[in-house]
Amino acid sequence: MESTVQVSNQTDVESKEKPQMIYRCKKCRRIVASEDQIVPHERGQGQKCFNWKKRTGDNTTLDEQPSECSSIFVEPMKWMQAVEEGNVGQKLQCIGCNARLGYFSWVGMQCNCGTWVNPAFQLHKSRIDECQF
Ligand SMILES: [Zn+2]
Ligand SMILES: [Zn+2]
Repeated sequence: MESTVQVSNQTDVESKEKPQMIYRCKKCRRIVASEDQIVPHERGQGQKCFNWKKRTGDNTTLDEQPSECSSIFVEPMKWMQAVEEGNVGQKLQCIGCNARLGYFSWVGMQCNCGTWVNPAFQLHKSRIDECQF
């Protein structure tokens, strides 16, 4: 009887060995987030029964897994004016060029992988550039 309620595969990424990733607005290149501001979430479904549990099932759920989350979730940040204004949910616009970068919601949002993030400050990967610092 294993209790797999808490699936924490988080390795402490406190060290500075790795180069940090930063995220910029694609349009104006403003830095909108860095790696340590990312709020990780577990991938919805599939991931936890990957290794051992559901090996015997004849219907493989592998192809149902979304390839990749289409957005990242971050901590609330200063440039998020809509957050500062006290909204509950609102578009997130780049403070530099007003491009829409994502959406936030204090009550939570669902990632395309199926996982609920709460509260959610979502940045669409298609709107930002990911680069190494
Ligand atoms: Zn911008
Ligand atoms: Zn996701």
